Amino acid sequence: MSISENIKEFKSGLPKGTTLVAVSKTKPISDLMEAYNAGQRIFGENKIQEMVEKWEQMPKDVEWHMIGHVQRNKVKYMAPFVSLIHAVDSLKLLKEIDKQAAKNQRCISCLLQVKIAEEDSKFGMDEADVRLLLNSDEIKGMANVKIVGLMGMATFTNDEPQLRSEFGKLKKLYDALSQTHQFTTLSMGMSGDYKIALEEGSNMIRVGSAIFGERNYS
Ligand SMILES: *Cc1c(COP(=O)(O)O)cnc(C)c1O
Repeated sequence: MSISENIKEFKSGLPKGTTLVAVSKTKPISDLMEAYNAGQRIFGENKIQEMVEKWEQMPKDVEWHMIGHVQRNKVKYMAPFVSLIHAVDSLKLLKEIDKQAAKNQRCISCLLQVKIAEEDSKFGMDEADVRLLLNSDEIKGMANVKIVGLMGMATFTNDEPQLRSEFGKLKKLYDALSQTHQFTTLSMGMSGDYKIALEEGSNMIRVGSAIFGERNYS
């Protein structure tokens, strides 16, 4: 199927209230434009430089999501336009986002990345870190960032019970924190596991290869 057919199929098939982030990393502008012309407006990238280049070339009503690990020294390049940063994993990073957002007179929405995968992944916080960060005094002084929810990546596996358990854990934490925080967004699910993620309570999925085809990194 073509990119535009894939977009249309996702749009018509997703439950109401679900946001589709079209993950366009490594893909050329012509592919993004095909998705755009089929009605897609939210694109996800995992490298800041690549996102900036695409932002410059694409129509200005696109919302850009940074879904990858963020290096603090590069926040300044995306601060003028990024609409959601999915993978915030430290107070230090949040401080830098707040500083750069202030310089641009913006408030930038962020998600905290939680480590849910069994496999050893370098990124993401555990539950205790998340609670510490949300309850820290420093965060209360940050006027230019808003933490609107959580993001997680499950283990790369076809083991459905394991995926359910990992996504379920994140949903439980999300619900618990929602009691005291104004959360709107639970970002979980990719091409291989978004159906299970949705069943487990995701309301934002990040889909790349199921829309644009396999990525070629060579
Ligand atoms: C690449 C990427 C995705 C999309 O992966 P697909 O399997 O191609 O859908 C989703 N989330 C993150 C954080 C990614 O880096």
